[in-house]
Amino acid sequence: MIKIENLHKSFGELHVLKGIDFQAQKGEVVAIIGPSGMGKSTFLRCVNFIERPEKGIVEIDNVRVDVQKCTEKEIKKLRMKTSMVFQNYNVFKNKTVLENVMLPMTSVQKMKKEEARQKALEYLKQVELLDKIDEYPSRLSGGQQQRVGIARAMAVNPKVILLDEPTSSLDPELVTGILDIIKKLAREHERTMLIVTHEMRFAREVADRILFMDDGVIIEEGKPEQIFANPQNDRTRKFLELLQ
Ligand code: ADP
Ligand code: MG
Repeated sequence: MIKIENLHKSFGELHVLKGIDFQAQKGEVVAIIGPSGMGKSTFLRCVNFIERPEKGIVEIDNVRVDVQKCTEKEIKKLRMKTSMVFQNYNVFKNKTVLENVMLPMTSVQKMKKEEARQKALEYLKQVELLDKIDEYPSRLSGGQQQRVGIARAMAVNPKVILLDEPTSSLDPELVTGILDIIKKLAREHERTMLIVTHEMRFAREVADRILFMDDGVIIEEGKPEQIFANPQNDRTRKFLELLQ
């Protein structure tokens, strides 16, 4: 479903991604953990082409692109296969809840308005926001704004959903609700999900596989029970110990 080969990204002199290799199957939920500043967000942003990687292969759902040689058209095609849930929600402040969820469907996917509306309502129901569809984001809590972000990402029916620390901007009492929604959606829809998170209990419960990322590479990966109970790499062990 998704395959990344030898992905590299630098910002000026700073070499952030130093050759990421990664694969996931359809419906697989993969949690990415690791220290701050080590390239987790950059990795998701490169998969979504918000950032342009310098080198490597990105393949999603049989569209395979060598980032050094590809055309803008190929990148656009690839971008349509992913959607992203951001740490700071990234909702459009001047659009209502319903418009926020409809917008990528009508503008990017060129879907008819009525069809987009129906789809948006379907997903807003799943994130329990049907009573807020005409509100503007400024009148919503952080948790509600993030639920808009999740509905918006799901509604475009992407092959892969990328979630970048979806609960780290939320007040503690709102975290569980959002994690429960993500867990429910992951189970019901069998979507491939890549989730960067610091919530280790959530990672353990929701993920089929855990990746530990440090210094621009994936150092260790495995099933949650293996990574948490018996990490093989010293750096993984130290990171997990610090969280206890
Ligand atoms: P993580 O998500 O693991 O905390 P990031 O991917 O956000 O790490 O950042 C990795 C490194 O890349 C950091 O040193 C960060 O400062 C740097 N970085 C990220 N985005 C940019 C950018 N747009 N311009 C310059 N440096 C960046
Ligand atoms: Mg980050």
